[in-house]
Amino acid sequence: MRPWNFSAGPSALPLEVLQQAAAEMTDWHGCGMSVMEMSHRGKQFTQIRDEAEADLRELLAVPDNYDVLFMQGGATAENAIVPMNLIGRGSAAKADYVLSGIWSNKSHKEAQRYGDIAVAASSGAEKILDGVAQAPWTWFPEASSWAVRPDASYLHLCSNETIGGVEFPDWPDMAALGAPDVPLVVDASSHFLSRTIDFSKAAMVYAGAQKNAGPAGVTMVIVRRDLLGHALPICPSAFDYANVAGAGSMFNTPPTYAIYIAGLVFKWLKQQGGVAAVEAANAAKAQALYAYLDSSDFYRSPVHAASRSRMNAPFFLRDESLNSDFLAQADAGGLMQLKGHKSVGGMRASIYNAVPMQGVQALISFMQDFERRHG
Ligand code: PMP
Repeated sequence: MRPWNFSAGPSALPLEVLQQAAAEMTDWHGCGMSVMEMSHRGKQFTQIRDEAEADLRELLAVPDNYDVLFMQGGATAENAIVPMNLIGRGSAAKADYVLSGIWSNKSHKEAQRYGDIAVAASSGAEKILDGVAQAPWTWFPEASSWAVRPDASYLHLCSNETIGGVEFPDWPDMAALGAPDVPLVVDASSHFLSRTIDFSKAAMVYAGAQKNAGPAGVTMVIVRRDLLGHALPICPSAFDYANVAGAGSMFNTPPTYAIYIAGLVFKWLKQQGGVAAVEAANAAKAQALYAYLDSSDFYRSPVHAASRSRMNAPFFLRDESLNSDFLAQADAGGLMQLKGHKSVGGMRASIYNAVPMQGVQALISFMQDFERRHG
């Protein structure tokens, strides 16, 4: 059996997908070529791309008035591409950002190069919640507290902070925030395809593939069509959503192999019963892990219970001098890549779609055993 892989990204892919890619590596469907060797404009790759888009649309119930783009540059490039495309929609070149951790802070910082950027809300301070002092970035600012400028070109949110392990699934209705005309733009990189998306709330959702959707190299952008066509003059042509959409994501050579693998992941997801089915499985996995963390005095989760991510669970050993033993023994026991991000420390278990309940149970059993031996 392969080890369980808890990497935050690039992360575990379904074994069936890897096996199919291996079987098709040198000769895709009898055409005599690897997918890597095909023209992106040929009939074989056109089929691969079209099926990937159709499957993604079906999985997420993407409305017809949204374009699905396969881009490059990762979510980091989107930190600039989003303002370059959207901030020019309004005459004031304003955009508002919710700060909830490292990734939204990076988005906010980059956006400042392109206009008047304000903070709508931030969790960057300690807060007493349920009688406990929650450290900065371990809780999510409640939507009712957000201050959105009604003339902002968009509001940006990172709905799952991969490093801090906070998740905000309850995207706000912008009308309820007094900003009905402000489009909500969401970096959903690390919980994309792990749960359903309500497109009546989000005008644009983007995600790097390398967590739940495939290998690094392709960025998925789902954008409401009326937002296109406002790119700033400085926006590179290859990053103007209108150009990318107009060319069916073939404005330049797209990351063909990454799109192919993402397409196989989409088919795998459909076989699992679709996003609603994996969402239920993800809820059960997260519930099992957090219930164990809360029941133990040996480990602790730093994140406020209501904001805990189903995908990325940071946790600490109470005795941090045991960290390197924990990691070495986990690794030897077939539990890989559990080390926490350097800015947070401790451990982090990323339990994306491709990590089944069996993997989470293996982790919990190891943690119980480690606690017995060292507690
Ligand atoms: N946003 C989030 C939520 C992320 O998790 C990451 C990567 N871990 C990024 C943005 C940056 O993505 P990339 O490195 O692909 O540019």
